[in-house]
Amino acid sequence: MSRIVDFVDENAEDLIKVADAVWDYAELGFQEFKSMGIQADYLESKGFDVTRKAGGIPTAMVAQWGTGEPIIGFLGEYDALSGLSQEAIPVRKPRVQGGPGHGCGHNLLGTASLGAALALRDALLKDGLSATIRYYGCPAEELLAGKVYMAREGLFDDLDVAISWHPGALNSVRLGKGTALNSAKFQFFGKTAHAAGDPHNGRSALDAVELMNVGANYLREHVIKEASIHYVITSGGGQPNVVPDFAEVWYFVRAPRRDQVDHIYERLIDVARGAALMTGTTFAIDFLTGCYEVLINQALADVMWDCLQKVGPPEFDEHDLEFARKLTETFDKSAVDEMKKSPQFEELSELKDQILNDTLVPPRGKGRSGGGSTDIGDVSWIVPTVQMSAACSPIGTPGHSWQNCASSGSSIGHKGMLVAAKTMALCGLELIRNPELLDNAWEEFRKETKESPYKCPFPEGRAFPLDRFFD
Ligand SMILES: [Zn+2]
Repeated sequence: MSRIVDFVDENAEDLIKVADAVWDYAELGFQEFKSMGIQADYLESKGFDVTRKAGGIPTAMVAQWGTGEPIIGFLGEYDALSGLSQEAIPVRKPRVQGGPGHGCGHNLLGTASLGAALALRDALLKDGLSATIRYYGCPAEELLAGKVYMAREGLFDDLDVAISWHPGALNSVRLGKGTALNSAKFQFFGKTAHAAGDPHNGRSALDAVELMNVGANYLREHVIKEASIHYVITSGGGQPNVVPDFAEVWYFVRAPRRDQVDHIYERLIDVARGAALMTGTTFAIDFLTGCYEVLINQALADVMWDCLQKVGPPEFDEHDLEFARKLTETFDKSAVDEMKKSPQFEELSELKDQILNDTLVPPRGKGRSGGGSTDIGDVSWIVPTVQMSAACSPIGTPGHSWQNCASSGSSIGHKGMLVAAKTMALCGLELIRNPELLDNAWEEFRKETKESPYKCPFPEGRAFPLDRFFD
């Protein structure tokens, strides 16, 4: 334990450099060439065997060290979000006007997992233990795609455990399962015509998109309450006096379980079919990605919580608190008040007066669904998976925000990242030292997945639509 803590502390400067570089590159999903590059170079320089372009995905990588079993996988991410460019200061100031920024802290996410892989290797060498350690550089989490594609290539199949984390406002272990999702673009094809001269000869693809949206909005009323359907129109024609022969709408369908998403998605396709029929158009589906809800492994969560208690929370100083106070002033106060009144928060009375979480929050809300989706979901149905969170931003920081980006580039984010690296490495070491812990995790996993083994949500035979996310 102390060796792992010391190792991360001794290498903190290097890790912070990597995290800051990735923060600075702020590359969007599937474009993380520099971010992957710096992590691959670093791990190579430390003796890891690195496969770049893993599974044929340009910005995916797998770095490996050691031999034999168990095979411990640390999952990292490094993609940014559009429009959230921000200096590491607590007032709004973009580094690049309109540019991308790390508004979800993935610069910290990947780097802590990489740090955990290195710290665990160091501990194994010292203890004379053998195992295989892997760091997975997973692209495009924000597109809910990277790990789904990597899973389809079988990159996680031989793992004994997947360990990861996500930067957050609290120091805890994840027990919530999020939502499963499908992401697809519906493209309608009509016939162009002069909109005033001979509209009877035209068939409007835009009409089809609009009618599909009307249908989808009525569909919302008749799906389970926990499901959500959202869309944006990505193409709606050129100018009003030309009947558009092409229009496109991009849909997300979310629900607590994968099979529920499948069911609602089939009904959405019926709505598209109806819209095409009504407008005399045809349509095609450009399926981008689908992902599972997270399968929580309680046995692993218990081990991780134990490790987090040993490592302890980040120690923030007056400088961090000052930064947090200023940043908090920019939050929507009513939204924060509302959050603090929620039943989940009510139970956490010690947080009421905290700006930065410098305590540990016992894992709660097992199986709670709702909110966003993550492609870690897919990994969690292939191999027992555990995810913690460490405080990298003030309590109440909005998700996917410039404030989150600012904090992810500050010493607050760095401190949370180091806690995560230590805890994840320690978790790996505990699992290697005590094989019965892994046996328990697998027993639980097998029971949970017996009825519904993992099936890639991606249509068979479809090539990765890497270029389709950005047009
Ligand atoms: Zn994220």
